[in-house]
Amino acid sequence: MGTPKGTTHDLAALNDLTDEIILEELHIRYIQDIIYTYIGDILVSVNPYKTLNIYGDEIGSRYVDMEAVKQLRPHIYALGTRAYLTLQRKNVNQCFLVSGESGAGKTECTKMLIAQIVRMSQIHAGHTGHSDLEDKLLEVNPLLEAFGNAQTVINDNSSRFGKLIEIIFSPNGRIVGGQVTEHMLEKSRVVRHGVGEKNFHIFYCMFAGLSQPEHKRFFLDHPDKYRIVSDGLGSSVFSSKAEYDRHTDSFQNLQRILPVIGFTPQDIDIMFAIVSAVLHLCNIELVEEPESGQVVILNEEEVDFGERVVSLKSVHQATDGRDALAKALYGRLFSWVVQQVNFALHVDVELENRSELTSKVGILDMAGFENFPENSFEQLCINVANEQLQNFFNEHIFNMELQECEAEGIKHPKIQFSNNAALLLLFFQRPVGLFTLLDEECKLAKTTDLTFVEKLNKQFSKSDLYKKARHKDPVFTIVHYAGEVVYSAIGFIEKNRDTLSSNMQSLMENSRNELVNELFMSKVSDTGSLERRGERHSQYTHPQWQDPPKRHFGPGDSLSRQAGRKLKKKMKSQEVVDIGVTANPNTACAHFRNSLQYLVDMLSRGEPNFVRCLRPNSYKAPNGFDSNMVMRQLKYTGVLETTRIRRMGFTTRLPFQVFLDRYKFLAFPLVAEVSATPDTCQMIIDRANIQTAQIGKTKVFLKYWHTDQLNSQLDHMI
Ligand code: ADP
Ligand code: MG
Repeated sequence: MGTPKGTTHDLAALNDLTDEIILEELHIRYIQDIIYTYIGDILVSVNPYKTLNIYGDEIGSRYVDMEAVKQLRPHIYALGTRAYLTLQRKNVNQCFLVSGESGAGKTECTKMLIAQIVRMSQIHAGHTGHSDLEDKLLEVNPLLEAFGNAQTVINDNSSRFGKLIEIIFSPNGRIVGGQVTEHMLEKSRVVRHGVGEKNFHIFYCMFAGLSQPEHKRFFLDHPDKYRIVSDGLGSSVFSSKAEYDRHTDSFQNLQRILPVIGFTPQDIDIMFAIVSAVLHLCNIELVEEPESGQVVILNEEEVDFGERVVSLKSVHQATDGRDALAKALYGRLFSWVVQQVNFALHVDVELENRSELTSKVGILDMAGFENFPENSFEQLCINVANEQLQNFFNEHIFNMELQECEAEGIKHPKIQFSNNAALLLLFFQRPVGLFTLLDEECKLAKTTDLTFVEKLNKQFSKSDLYKKARHKDPVFTIVHYAGEVVYSAIGFIEKNRDTLSSNMQSLMENSRNELVNELFMSKVSDTGSLERRGERHSQYTHPQWQDPPKRHFGPGDSLSRQAGRKLKKKMKSQEVVDIGVTANPNTACAHFRNSLQYLVDMLSRGEPNFVRCLRPNSYKAPNGFDSNMVMRQLKYTGVLETTRIRRMGFTTRLPFQVFLDRYKFLAFPLVAEVSATPDTCQMIIDRANIQTAQIGKTKVFLKYWHTDQLNSQLDHMI
């Protein structure tokens, strides 16, 4: 009582804590345009859907140190500042898990985090103006968005791929490099997109931004003539002048960014040529000639300027082949763009002494949970990835904390939280997990999406998390932590095989276009990204920096899983699920497993920072706060549970000696020799009148606000 509603910046400090109270607090704050709220050291952000006057250099530089952060309102900048300073002080890698459903504001948060980290590096490493590298880093997002984002029903700028951006620092806090890892681009969007949705931005930007002569050069006609950008309902591609102008602006911005990142005029030209080729390719209509039974191209003008292959296939097969080629071309172009970004951000060993490279901040921005009227393989992968991250979140927040308390003999309150380990097992288990069954099915010759679903129905008939369809359709339902999702398995087998026929592959390898040639000659890595032939551009070999060691891919070899197994022995309530890395992967599922494992490894190697983004309404509008919708998100992301454990739990654990070094003066004379024992620590706690701290076997356990209390008492003594 006492504090007016909506003024509590840290929900963990509220007296009464229920979902309703949290919801009300967030709501009242939201109405006042206060979109950020802390829960202990976690940040909750509610998408304002309008431009707020709380960003930019002037405001960012106010969040300069932890003292300032405490005085100021909660902000995404504060988390950037904290991570940067912790990295400097403790030299422990930091990673951000930015989560939330589509449209919740993850990508915007990611960009602001990067901006603030760049700002901090400038302030602390003492240089003014952006370095080339920092400029590049700031432009990575807009560049990748042009190729990897699209308008969906939920978000006008929806990321259709996951990404991990790592920023690398020298010991004096200067940014010396970066690295981007892409995760599962939704390639199928290239050939087909849902009603009310669009293809990747780049297609529209090109139509709106290229000059007339450039249109000619790429053989581009009026946009309405291209199947993959039209809405299928006969309306024009650009519904308004404003929309057209927006794309023109984005295109101009893209043309400014590309050279900054290091793309040459030739690179840029070839890139646009490939995007145009995809447009043309998808326009090819294939029909069966009645007399000969041969498949022929109906609209010959589309291929007048291209090469051609003769093939003996059915119309259906030939159309599938066309689409597979378009997806492969676009997917590889995207990977190539990411690869170029990585070349541009790579740490220059010549300039930087290797041993100098000591720390990094990783930021993970991945598509949030999706549940559309129709859900396919892509939604399944996105949702399972979210389950995995939720599992990591549970593990970190809840179990790691409980585990240490047990080891130190500290009493810890029992806290219930939802556990999704069983669901992950349903997917990753070997030999009978859903992904394994799909891989198996893809190896067989005569299979259909329906036979696959029949196998699932049989395998998971007893599971509470799997529901088979009433009718004999290739459809099944999964009970996710965020709700039930109905998946249509149509296209699962083809999407998982993700292969080009061998003559398409060799056609591309022999293309006269050098880039196409390179895209298809390059090896695809275990996680599905592009590897350059010959030299590798991963520069650093400092032990702390190495990529996860190349493992003899098998179960139980990552840090998280080792921790997990220990945990499993201790606690029956929670299981850590083995994703199961695959050697020589050649299916989409296998790439997915490996790439997810890489992300989890990265997260478990650093100190995690959590940002929970919430979507306030389904109509993308400012000032609308749909309480039911927010409540649903609060429930499934476990915000309340997080708050409780933050309040009950001990966020700071200091070894006796460290505690003593810091706070000795509160209870002992300056010159006294004091040994580090439970008793001496207890004396300090008593003297400082701290109520709920506990002394373990080797450490003092403090609530997150105790450190503030102790520090301010110290300040008063000086
Ligand atoms: P997600 O990545 O979670 O799908 P985005 O970050 O793309 O969501 O946000 C969706 C849209 O919401 C953005 O394009 C922008 O219009 C709006 N938005 C998100 N965060 C903010 C913010 N902090 N301030 C203003 N608008 C925002
Ligand atoms: Mg996004």
